[in-house]
Amino acid sequence: MLEACPESYVETIMVGPGSIGTFNRSTLTTYMGIMDYIRAIFSKETGQPAGLFSFNSSGACPVCKGKGVTTPDTSFADPLTILCESCGGTRYSDEALSY
Ligand SMILES: [Zn+2]
Repeated sequence: MLEACPESYVETIMVGPGSIGTFNRSTLTTYMGIMDYIRAIFSKETGQPAGLFSFNSSGACPVCKGKGVTTPDTSFADPLTILCESCGGTRYSDEALSY
C-alpha cells in the first residue's frame, strides 16, 4: 500500500505492509506505475503501441493470455498449474518479445 509522503520528503516513495490489491495480474511495478514509463520508452523506441509491451493488453501471450502459466483440465486429479510452453512464463507474445 502506498502512503502519502511528508512534505519534506516529496521524492520518497513509502511502501507499507498493506495489500497492493487482489488483481492477480498486478505486480509491484504495475501498481507503482513504473511499467507505464518502461512501456512508453519501448513504444517511443520501436514505434509500436505501448499496449504491445503489456501482458495485460495486446502484448499478452495468446496461449496463456498473459498469465505465464496454464491450468490444463484435470478433472480426474487436483488442479494443476504449469509454466506456459509458448512463452516460457514471460507472459508476452512472440511479437512483443521480438522487440
Ligand atoms: Zn504464455
